[in-house]
Amino acid sequence: MAQKQTKLEKIRNCIRTIPDFPIPGIQFRDVTTLFKDAEGFRLTIDAMNDAVKDFEFDAVAGIESRGFVLAGALAYRQGKGCILMRKPGKLPAESISETYTLEYGTNTLEVHKDAIQPGQKILVIDDLLATGGTALAVAKLVERLGGEIAAFGFVVDLPALNGAATLNAYKIFSLVAFEGE
Ligand code: AMP
Repeated sequence: MAQKQTKLEKIRNCIRTIPDFPIPGIQFRDVTTLFKDAEGFRLTIDAMNDAVKDFEFDAVAGIESRGFVLAGALAYRQGKGCILMRKPGKLPAESISETYTLEYGTNTLEVHKDAIQPGQKILVIDDLLATGGTALAVAKLVERLGGEIAAFGFVVDLPALNGAATLNAYKIFSLVAFEGE
């Protein structure tokens, strides 16, 4: 357990905080510094791999764009396929979309209609849970296609924004938490 704490501390210490980005008052938790750290990135994927061992799922979905980095590596480790939840206008085949409110502004996400088959259980991965609006939009996309959310997984939780309450219908896990917004 003490060793695990150390690993999570290493992950947490690799995340850089940029104050007032993209707007004043937001403490941006920048995971690019975690992704570029070979040990930090490996520990992150290993910790996510451990965290999902009790979940049953058919595929891993990543949320554009930092979620793609995590979902791709985790899907490979798990021997599963990887589904992309993309920003609007990027997907070439027939897609569905959901628009939602973000911690700062609004956003839209899209997924190919044939990316998920009815009854498939989907593990959804993103870098950070803030209000939970992004994750909830992904849940709607998955469910509109007849899929089920197996769980949501994040590297970072911002408990002050209470995303866990927004996602209370679903299983969630996160590796580290930061105070504030
Ligand atoms: P939310 O929908 O409010 O849970 O916001 C989560 C999404 O916005 C994730 O895709 C994050 O990458 C991004 N995000 C929101 N707040 C922050 C923050 N303080 N630092 C870094 N990324 C954030």
